Amino acid sequence: MSFRPLVPGAVIGIVGGGQLGRMLAMAAARLGLGTIVVDPDKHCPASETAGDIIVAAYDDPVAILKLARRCQVITYEFENVPVAPLRRASEETPVFPPVEALEVSQDRVVEKAFLNGIGLATAPWRAIDTVQELDHALQELEGGCILKSRRFGYDGKGQVSLSRADGYAEAWDALGGVPSILEKRVPFVRELSVVAARGADGTVVGFDPAENTHEDGILRRSVVPGGISPATAANAQAVAKTILEKLNYVGVVGVELFETAEGALLVNEIAPRIHNSGHWTEAACFVSQFEQHIRAVAGLPLGAPTRHSDCVMENLIGEEASKAYELLSESDVVLHLYGKRQARPGRKMGHFTRLLTRDA
Ligand code: ADP
Ligand code: MG
Repeated sequence: MSFRPLVPGAVIGIVGGGQLGRMLAMAAARLGLGTIVVDPDKHCPASETAGDIIVAAYDDPVAILKLARRCQVITYEFENVPVAPLRRASEETPVFPPVEALEVSQDRVVEKAFLNGIGLATAPWRAIDTVQELDHALQELEGGCILKSRRFGYDGKGQVSLSRADGYAEAWDALGGVPSILEKRVPFVRELSVVAARGADGTVVGFDPAENTHEDGILRRSVVPGGISPATAANAQAVAKTILEKLNYVGVVGVELFETAEGALLVNEIAPRIHNSGHWTEAACFVSQFEQHIRAVAGLPLGAPTRHSDCVMENLIGEEASKAYELLSESDVVLHLYGKRQARPGRKMGHFTRLLTRDA
């Protein structure tokens, strides 16, 4: 299907109306592009910023087709969107990032096999379908491991730490006996991520990598550049470029990495979308990851990833958001709230980025 760059007034369909959809819709509006969101909740975060909302389940084929007929390109804000309706929709309207990228990132075994297949290193892993396979894999991988469900995990959900010495049968049961992956626990010196984009013309542009800290499986903060050396940063960019090119990708990708004591990079996972660890770009770059994604899927020229300040982005989780407006008195802070009415423990309510002065 031929694809022509969108013109002002064109409409982008976004599957998923959470905070990422909300911020994509804001970025689209600034470029004069309309948005229609599909989400089962008519009061979802994106409902306040998108031009229109189709209230329906993500796997409702009729709703996705309706979306396809009302927009010029479809994108999505999270990776657990069912593939089949999007593939059907892509026969009528382009879907970016490509459905193949979505498929790869939805299943941790497919994802790890893909990464190793294109020559990128990951933690040692085994696919697990039975408790016997788990027993065998724990012997092979030795030491501390993490069992993760192959599908539908996020923010550390669907994961258990274990070793053969522990009661691993309980861990298997705790996860529900679902198809899983066993990964060796990596003794990383830091976690980092790179958010990069590939345009419709094949141009690749990466933002500076961020050093990330997680608490209870949820991203706590991202520091840029943090302790990441220029050589590691370049290495991370090269990893992202390889992934983008092998997937014939269009849009923004988030690539999560572990840096080992030897300075090697292991890929943890790929998010075929804008990424929480890239939220700082709205405060410290001229073009944010949100605008970059909209530019890419709209077939427009990508923005330069120039960063004008070092910074720290921190998530506001659960009740932390109740103090958010206190941050407004700080002149070096950029605040962003998601409009969520209810603060539940572990729920991402917003984030803020503190700009740090750079050394002269
Ligand atoms: P999610 O989809 O929930 O983000 P991840 O696979 O990224 O799942 O795991 C969440 C966090 O758990 C990671 O950011 C990292 O801190 C830790 N983690 C995951 N896999 C490993 C591993 N193999 N070794 C060490 N830590 C890990
Ligand atoms: Mg992750």
